[in-house]
Formats: sequence, structure tokens, C-alpha cells
Amino acid sequence: MKVAVVKETAPGEQRVALVPEAIAKLTGAGLEVLVETGAGDGAWFPDGAYAEAGAAIVSRSGLAAADVILTVTRPDDALLAALRPGQAVFGMLNPLADPAFAADLAARGVTAVSLDGLPRTLPRAQSMDALTSQANVAGYKAALVAATAFARYFPLLITAAGTARPAKVLVLGTGVAGLQAIGTARRLGAVVSAYDVRPQTKTEVESLGATFIELTSVGPAAGAGGYARDLTDEERQAQQAELIAHIARHDVVITTAQVPGRRPPLLLTDDAVKAMSPGSVVVDMGSGPLGGNVAGSVPGETVVTGDGVTIIGASNLAAGMPSAASSAYARNISTLLLHMLAGGALTIDTSDEIQAGVVITHGGVVVQPATAALLADAPVHSAGGTSQ
Ligand code: NAD
Repeated sequence: MKVAVVKETAPGEQRVALVPEAIAKLTGAGLEVLVETGAGDGAWFPDGAYAEAGAAIVSRSGLAAADVILTVTRPDDALLAALRPGQAVFGMLNPLADPAFAADLAARGVTAVSLDGLPRTLPRAQSMDALTSQANVAGYKAALVAATAFARYFPLLITAAGTARPAKVLVLGTGVAGLQAIGTARRLGAVVSAYDVRPQTKTEVESLGATFIELTSVGPAAGAGGYARDLTDEERQAQQAELIAHIARHDVVITTAQVPGRRPPLLLTDDAVKAMSPGSVVVDMGSGPLGGNVAGSVPGETVVTGDGVTIIGASNLAAGMPSAASSAYARNISTLLLHMLAGGALTIDTSDEIQAGVVITHGGVVVQPATAALLADAPVHSAGGTSQ
């Protein structure tokens, strides 16, 4: 079976789906690995390193020979249009944000496997968890981006020229990225507070040396699978209003709040941003095509408000540390691919809990229940079964 790695084309995307170190495991399992020319350049993995590791370097047209295409994010339209029936594409395809895209792939007989559908709490799936590996990179980077944009020190600094008080950092949303941002800001010497609508994160926050903020106006809002649920309009307004006073007394706010398949919740309203002091910095990791956690944030851009608050629309921070992000992602995607092989061939079996989460389309049908439900606008139940 032939597996191909594409050169990512999304603006600012520097990552690559496989790094040279990951090739041997795949060739050892009997796979032939093709790598598009320059695929690893953005992450500092030259073609020669892939060739040395046993991959064949091919042009874009050479990808057509592959049975499985590996990508980081959703491929560009030209590549999608060139996919043929029976071919499979693996990546972080985010079908919940655009289920029609999945319907199109299904109609064309393409098998789509999306790593963002992985069941997160399954211990045997942890090495395949790309959302976690990329959120770790992004959370780390968010603290660094905030520190760079902030015009003061993060740590307490006592020098002959005076004493600098430590920066006060607030992290909103304490999943994987938020916890990594807390740890990194703490290591830089900031005083960190954090809040999440899932109160079970309190102990994790406190174990990192940060203070957990509890809101009185919003109750616990844990949803399925360890994720948060969408808040009601009343809860959302109460949360936004109560957060303002906390936001106003911080120098830096990093937001990471997400609810699967929904618009990211708005945590900093216009009023909250206005309440911040000039020179404050906000890093909105929720920023993306569906919106963001911060009023006025623009994905991929830095905006300075009339009141002197810098808002960074940090939509893809993992791409800003491409070597580490790609190495981790390569481990995730290659472990998943190997898990889905039987007798050297890709074998779809949605009775397997992992595959039931990640296989979006197969055999001309949208098989992943969450995506199918969005398309049908009604709950759909997975049937399970095996096919090759
Ligand atoms: P995520 O990216 O979906 O969301 C980030 C955070 O935003 C979450 O903590 C969520 O509770 C929070 N949030 C959502 N709406 C909010 C609101 N209105 N106000 C404040 N906070 C809000 O989360 P994630 O980092 O992908 O983690 C999701 C879950 O998966 C967590 O329970 C995590 O512990 C779990 N997880 C488990 C494993 C494992 O068991 N191996 C690995 C990774 C993640």
C-alpha cells in the first residue's frame, strides 16, 4: 500500500504530516511512503532527510498513485478535487465545521479519516491524539506570544533601576492548551489565575501554581466526552458580565475556550476589553472562521484597540512551532494509520471505538454519527461493521 505526504498549502501552515523519523515504522509495516517535494521545508525537514529515511520524493501529480494521503489540515480544493474513489485521506479535517465537505467526499467514494474525531479519554488512543499534541504546542506558544507582545516583564524583577511587579495573567478555558499556557506563563514568572466552566479542572489548575476563579452566576457545564457543553443565552450573559471584573484586573488574558462543533463562546465582550488597562494583551486562541472568544479579534491578525489593548487572533499557533508540532503529529497520524491496517491494507471497521470516531466517510456514505447528524439535522446512530 502506498501512503503519500502532501505539502501543506494553507496560508501560514508550516507543519507536515510525517517527519523523516516516522518513516521507518511505516516502511517496516510494509508500506511504501511517498513525500511531495518540499513537504517538510516549512518545518526544517528537507527532502533529502525523507529520502534517506526510505521515502520516495514525488511531485504533486505523483500523489495520485497513493492509496492513502496524509495531511495536517484539510487539503486545498485542487487536491480534494483530484481524489479518486477508493482513495483515503487522513488529517485534521474538522468535518463538524463544514459537514457539506464530508458529504462531497462521500459522494465521490473517498474515505475520509479525521484525527479530530478521536475519542479523547480512551487510554489506547492517547498516542493518536493530535488535538492534544497540537494544543500542547499552541498553549505553550500562546504564553510566549503574550509575553512578547506585553510591554512589561512577566516575572518579578528587582534591579538597581527599580522593581518590576510580576504580570497578572488570566487563562480562560483550562483544557489541554489552557493548562500548557498556565504552566508556561508560570515558568516565565507571571502570577496566573484561570477559569473554566468545568469545575473539575480546578485541581489541575492549582497543581500548576495558579489560582482557580469560581463564578457564582454560572453552574458547572461539563458536557459529553470531557468537553464543555454550550451555555444557554442566560448563562452566557451572566458569565460575560461576571468575568468583566476579573478581566479588568489582569494585564494579560489568554482564551482557549471551545465547544465541539459550535461557535467558540464569547468570553470577552466589548465592555470587557474596554475595562482593561492600556498596554494589556489578549491572546484569543478560540479565534477562527466560526468566531472567537474575544470581541474584535481577527483570525491571524493583531489588532490594537483605541483604548490601547492588543488583541491577537491566534488561530493556528501550533503552526508557529512547526518542527515540534510536526514530530508529535507524525507520531499521532502514523500510530492511527498502523492501527487501521490489517494484512498490510487499510481496513475500515467502525465497530472499533477509535475508528467509529475518526472515520468520517467510507463506501460512499458519511459514517461518523456526529457529522451525519449535522447533515441530517437529526441524531443518527452508528451501525458498526467491517469492510475493506
Ligand atoms: P477544548 O479545546 O474543547 O476546550 C478548551 C476548554 O474550554 C475546555 O476545558 C472547556 O471546558 C473550556 N470551555 C468551553 N466553554 C467554556 C466557557 N463558556 N467558559 C469557560 N471555559 C469554557 O478542550 P480540550 O483541551 O480539547 O479538552 C477536552 C477534554 O478532553 C478535557 O476534558 C480534557 O481533559 C480531555 N482530554 C483527555 C485526555 C485523556 O484522557 N488522555 C487527553 C486530552 C484531553
